[in-house]
Amino acid sequence: MKVGVLALQGSFFNHCKSLELCDLDYVLIKRLSDLKSINSLIIPGGESTSMKIIEKEENLFFAIDKYIKKGLPTLTTCAGTIILSKKVIDGDISIPNIDISIQRNAYGRQNQSFEGDVKFLDNSDIYCFIRAPKIIELLSSDVKPIAFHNEEIVGVQQQNIIGLTYHPELTNDNFYLNWLKEYLKSGEHVGSF
Ligand code: GLN
Repeated sequence: MKVGVLALQGSFFNHCKSLELCDLDYVLIKRLSDLKSINSLIIPGGESTSMKIIEKEENLFFAIDKYIKKGLPTLTTCAGTIILSKKVIDGDISIPNIDISIQRNAYGRQNQSFEGDVKFLDNSDIYCFIRAPKIIELLSSDVKPIAFHNEEIVGVQQQNIIGLTYHPELTNDNFYLNWLKEYLKSGEHVGSF
């Protein structure tokens, strides 16, 4: 059972730290060949426009898209969620798999990043929003809101994808880590590709 962590750019090391705390094996995904043996995937935050430039070298997004459509359990945070959104305001579409419209840099500039209270499933905790995007609209009834900051939706699930706009890997609270372990382990039954 191995988790792939997309490692083109951004906060991938923090996700690796979460996986170590969960006792889960992982592989950094930098090239097509790294995708071979994974049972689940994390696409981290960072800068979506930079990742989009770097992935072109091997057309990684094209391959990842196929894996996600086959049912690979996938967690995206922040820029990762932008990359999977069907509509992107102030940015480009990459691998559209989540039926949401999302606005990049919706809370302002980098220095307007903040920590805020988030209710994720049955748990509330403080999480970081780092030049975060905002989910503007749900585009189909297949998308279920699962995380809220005040009244705003900051996390959704659509089938095998969980998309969050904040950074749980910087908090690593027990509720998140327990959930993460269960969620990624569900890929055991999907099998590797
Ligand atoms: N502002 C970044 C983008 O638009 C996202 C920031 C993040 O991932 N923390 O890609």
